[in-house]
Amino acid sequence: MAPSQSLFYYDEGLKLLPINLAIDVRRPHAQAFVSHAHADHIARHGYTLCTAETAAFLGLRLGPRPTREMSYGKNIDWGGVSLTVYPAGHCLGSAMLLVEHQGQRLLYTGDFKLRPALTTPAAQPVKADILIMETTYGEPRYRLPPEDEVIEDLACCIRDTWDRGRCPVIMAYALGKAQEVSRRLSEAGIGVVQHSSVATISRIYEQFGVSVGNYRPYDGRLERGEVLITSPQQRWDCPTESVVRIAVTGWALDPSAKYRLGADVVFPLSDHADYEELFQMVQTVQPQLVYCTHGPATFVRDLMERGWGARLLGRPTQKLLF
Ligand SMILES: [Zn+2]
Repeated sequence: MAPSQSLFYYDEGLKLLPINLAIDVRRPHAQAFVSHAHADHIARHGYTLCTAETAAFLGLRLGPRPTREMSYGKNIDWGGVSLTVYPAGHCLGSAMLLVEHQGQRLLYTGDFKLRPALTTPAAQPVKADILIMETTYGEPRYRLPPEDEVIEDLACCIRDTWDRGRCPVIMAYALGKAQEVSRRLSEAGIGVVQHSSVATISRIYEQFGVSVGNYRPYDGRLERGEVLITSPQQRWDCPTESVVRIAVTGWALDPSAKYRLGADVVFPLSDHADYEELFQMVQTVQPQLVYCTHGPATFVRDLMERGWGARLLGRPTQKLLF
């Protein structure tokens, strides 16, 4: 079936027209779907549709809000439109949204990755006619190495830092990345210490039965044999000259990342799909048309060269009806 001419609208964010539902918009809206609780996807909406985990993180960040909790794989009827969430593999609670309306299927990925993680369920893409996909790493240079190898390198760097009498401090996004890194380093025998900005979120992971490994909360001290995990925005109390700042991000694949992130060393660990995973996603969903958000225009060209119908969404001033 041909893509709908009136299913969604894009204007600095996505709106599902038949039910006036905003999706991952940053300005408050009467009713909105929130795919996950990262800061660039949330706002104080009148009414929020999201998973129970995302609702808990939103509660922590924004206070109690009117919410309808959705469960993976269970569809709800919303004004005659069927809405179903599936795991996105990005952070705990992250969800893709399948919209079914008048025989058409639209899949919105939100932020996602296909590589399995220890602290969030694996992504479950489903077939759809229209795919709206996050393409942050839509350039060939963003091919991530196997995570086990990266964690091994990271653990080596931490041990080397101790040997030099310095304190390793990992800067990792407080929701998702920090918990995954904690779990993996804890399993590698590293003593993990979490800054309170991370530990408050880890406690919600634990409330949902997800282990983030062994860790203790940061109390201003860091012993030899320990690594501090903190969000990039936080400051810590160790004397600056004794600290080795370690950033863990997909942007580590950029030669300038160290300087841009204010880190001494960077490791390529990401919660987002890399270049090849983006194609894998399209291959799995088999859409007639792909709309790309948050990524480079060149990825649209790359998709078209491989035979997929593709368009770019996401320029701030763009106002388009589909
Ligand atoms: Zn995100």
